[in-house]
Amino acid sequence: MEILLISIVIGIIPALIAHSKGRSFFAWWIYGALLFIIAFVHSLVIRKDVKAEEKDMIAFDGMKKCPFCAEMIKSEAIKCKHCGSDLTGNNPNLDLKKSDEEYLKEARRKAGINE
Ligand SMILES: [Zn+2]
Repeated sequence: MEILLISIVIGIIPALIAHSKGRSFFAWWIYGALLFIIAFVHSLVIRKDVKAEEKDMIAFDGMKKCPFCAEMIKSEAIKCKHCGSDLTGNNPNLDLKKSDEEYLKEARRKAGINE
């Protein structure tokens, strides 16, 4: 009976470690209670869940995900350090098209051609 209690209590250790890496607390608690040494070592060597890591970065580090390459970048960034994309919301190609049209409009106006 005591062994069962002890294993339940020490099972919390790998559960806490795994939970901090974005894994299920209860699944790791059971795992840790049944196979403490293995679960403990396992919880130390597993890598952090990528999605949990990204969530942490967004919540605590002021990061955001680049909409072009999906890498994590600073939320203040106006240019992605991974793919070099412009993140100001102005697509340079769209800007170019618009200014072309404006240029044409202005040229027509200057030439006295009315549409
Ligand atoms: Zn990017």
